[in-house]
Amino acid sequence: MTEQPTDPAEIFDAQAALVPDRRVSFDFSARRDALLRLKQAIIAREGAIIEAIGADFGKHPVEVRLTEIVPIYQEIGDALRHLRRWMRPKRVMPGLTMFGTSGRIQPTPKGTSLIIAPWNFPFMLALGPLVSALAAGCSAVIKPSEMTPATSAVIADVIAEAFEPDLVAVVQGGPDVANALLEQPFDHIFFTGSPAVGKIVMAAAAKTLASVTLELGGKSPVVVGPEANVHKAAKWIAWGRFINAGQTCVAPDHVYVHESIHDALADALRARITKMYGTDPTQSPALAKIINPRHWARLTGLIADAEGKGATRAIGTSDEASRKISPTILLDTQPDMEISREEIFGPVLPLIKYSDLSDVIGQINDAPHPLALYVFGDAETADRVTNGTTSGSVGVNLTILPVIHPNLPFGGVGNSGMGAAHGKAGFDAFSHLRPVLQNRFIALPMIFPPYTSRVEKLSKFLLRFVGR
Ligand code: NAD
Repeated sequence: MTEQPTDPAEIFDAQAALVPDRRVSFDFSARRDALLRLKQAIIAREGAIIEAIGADFGKHPVEVRLTEIVPIYQEIGDALRHLRRWMRPKRVMPGLTMFGTSGRIQPTPKGTSLIIAPWNFPFMLALGPLVSALAAGCSAVIKPSEMTPATSAVIADVIAEAFEPDLVAVVQGGPDVANALLEQPFDHIFFTGSPAVGKIVMAAAAKTLASVTLELGGKSPVVVGPEANVHKAAKWIAWGRFINAGQTCVAPDHVYVHESIHDALADALRARITKMYGTDPTQSPALAKIINPRHWARLTGLIADAEGKGATRAIGTSDEASRKISPTILLDTQPDMEISREEIFGPVLPLIKYSDLSDVIGQINDAPHPLALYVFGDAETADRVTNGTTSGSVGVNLTILPVIHPNLPFGGVGNSGMGAAHGKAGFDAFSHLRPVLQNRFIALPMIFPPYTSRVEKLSKFLLRFVGR
């Protein structure tokens, strides 16, 4: 393993110095090799990854495999399968005015990149963007979250085994380290985290006009129409909300449910919770811990604030010693409660009764654009909600899956983010789609000055020809 440098400026300079050389040498086969090295280094550490994420926040090995490791293999596999096609220049038709030219769009690596990751899927969200960066031919500095030190150490090991630090490096630390990195003139910054820190990242990027991908969070609503299958809806909503103990950016944050099935959905959710996590979920190994005491106190504070203002708890307890909060359903929450304002990001789910779908669509539109939006019901309800709102993605009669789908771009809009990740979209995020236009026999010089009467006539002809 290579000795890892830690100084942000030194690392950036070493990576940036090789950008011109990499434009030529980091070709298809070199990128393929890099992706294969990454895969091998992960395969060699699967056990260590499961252990580290378990140590950081008690996540079950099954959940680690399914939500942290499988998506990375999928991302690498997808890149290996399609890289040649993604890299290939795409020819464009000249149209009538450009007749006599040949044009193409040639993806070129942006150059250097910085990847800042959050703690909630600490492995997947650090290495997923790296796959896209390498596929696109960029170098990368990864700053994992300081809140998952065991996972960050494994990430550093994986990278040190697979790469020289002048191609990929890991710098560990908190906001101060992130800010020292943000002072370097990276060509692209890929940030995953909260909207508040996203603004800091974008302001830093503005200093050098670095491009950014911002994968942010927010409150992702669910709408359950009167015609929905209550049991199926409960199954998907409970899984989506309580996996990773609700610490998931695309988790259902709150549910608008039609008044005619509100009580039935509450009952079905209670039954699902017991089936998934037993009668005392705080003792269930399937339920992850809350990441740290600060977030445990924040979440129990949100529940207390809601209950203090009249909400009722249909199910749910908390246990400070194990830092667990069992899946909690809140009824009768109101807009003035803290839980209705901030991203919950934990295993707590308010059910909100509605009678008129237009009001729900209005409330969704009054709030910042969500990262995900889920609808349960028939095609008419799904279409009304989908067409009447905007969000990063939409899931109909399911939750979470749009973020896992290999052929769907993943990203937010407005407050929930900018740009997209995964597969071809991820490749494009780290690429400049560069137009290259070559002259063969274009006749356009005929209209260069001086503007003789012949040019005048030609310009009028063109005006009519192109305009009609
Ligand atoms: P966060 O924004 O607090 O931290 C993310 C990263 O930014 C960390 O590496 C952290 O060290 C760094 N950071 C924190 N404060 C900083 C500062 N002042 N200056 C510079 N860097 C700073 O987010 P988090 O708590 O780790 O993650 C939770 C948030 O991330 C939620 O809002 C969630 O919805 C969102 N999220 C989004 C996605 C997505 O793909 N869209 C995925 C996971 C999480």
